[in-house]
Amino acid sequence: MIGFNVPPCTGREMEYLRQAVESHHICGDGAFTKRCNAWMEERFHARRALLTTSGTTALDMAALLCDLAPGDEVILPSYTFSSTATAFVLAGAKLVFTDIRPDTMNLDEEKIEDAITDRTRVIVPVHYAGVACRMDVILAIAARHGLRVVEDAAQGVMSSWRGKALGTLGDFGCFSFHETKNFSMGEGGALLIREEEPIERAEILREKGTNRSRFFRGQVDKYTWVDKGDSFLPSELNAAYLWAQLEQAEEMYGRRMAAWDRYDRVLRPLAAEGRFGVPVIPEDCIHNAHMYYLKCRDLAERTEFIAFMKARGIQCVFHYVPLHSSPAGLRFGRFHGEDEYTTRESERLVRLPLYDSITPADQERVLEGVKEFFHL
Ligand SMILES: *Cc1c(COP(=O)(O)O)cnc(C)c1O
Repeated sequence: MIGFNVPPCTGREMEYLRQAVESHHICGDGAFTKRCNAWMEERFHARRALLTTSGTTALDMAALLCDLAPGDEVILPSYTFSSTATAFVLAGAKLVFTDIRPDTMNLDEEKIEDAITDRTRVIVPVHYAGVACRMDVILAIAARHGLRVVEDAAQGVMSSWRGKALGTLGDFGCFSFHETKNFSMGEGGALLIREEEPIERAEILREKGTNRSRFFRGQVDKYTWVDKGDSFLPSELNAAYLWAQLEQAEEMYGRRMAAWDRYDRVLRPLAAEGRFGVPVIPEDCIHNAHMYYLKCRDLAERTEFIAFMKARGIQCVFHYVPLHSSPAGLRFGRFHGEDEYTTRESERLVRLPLYDSITPADQERVLEGVKEFFHL
């Protein structure tokens, strides 16, 4: 059986876990967390990076830092994971879903401005499959209307747009280190902060509303409860696991990209015959090989394809069911404009097995299956 995902493991994880245990300091913000934060700040030129307990809680922090009031509106795609939405629902906002572009499956930047009302406060671009949204257009709209931009870069770690790392372009950027992502700590994520101003509040929010970070830096002589907060910092055990991967991030990136290219070399020329679609990578994007997907003709063909591959011992999976048609989406949001592509394109998309340790032989079997199914 070729599974859809095998979580990454580089070999150093146990050693670092042992070090964390032997340090007798496995609560948050120890040596491994600091190493991970510093690595992200340096590698991505981020002003501040803070490890969190998940991509979801990184989004929660970003939503809280946007200071939303009940009835404020947030514009986001419907084609995304529930976490993009729940963060803003918890913060009291109303969701306004707009359509995606059929090529990248990202928020269609041309549809955003029409959805803006006097209650709009935030735009949330989701970089699907680690391929960047049109950030120049989105940032210009945000500047024109005085809106915040929260990038859901959960899938975009190590991707860039015009030379800048995803997650560093908006006011806040959110990474995920869930085990289905390119780099894993089991459950985990990070919040990236672009400006100096919200950093201190972010640290307070993450540390149960206390000014503990300032205390440890010697800026105050005792720490105390100063604001609302929560516990968003992961244990050192998780950070130690992640460090084993960040330390080898370039090698892991290379392996994953090689696997992506192995699919692409065969499938892109076949896609030209018109039987299925393949991912579109715009020129100004460097992606991170998070995902390789095909687009079937329609839902019926995709269902057949998944069953066909399963019979050959290959697990291919579809992705999001659009949020605006889900029970909670109906309750907390509305779709602005026409759903031209969100539902239709989501029903066509199917993801092929892709992970750090996938072998060329297994990929060959996947490719044979695809060719046979499409009679190519
Ligand atoms: C994975 C993912 C999340 C959530 O990240 P977790 O670490 O699983 O909480 C949010 N948004 C998108 C687009 C994701 O792919």
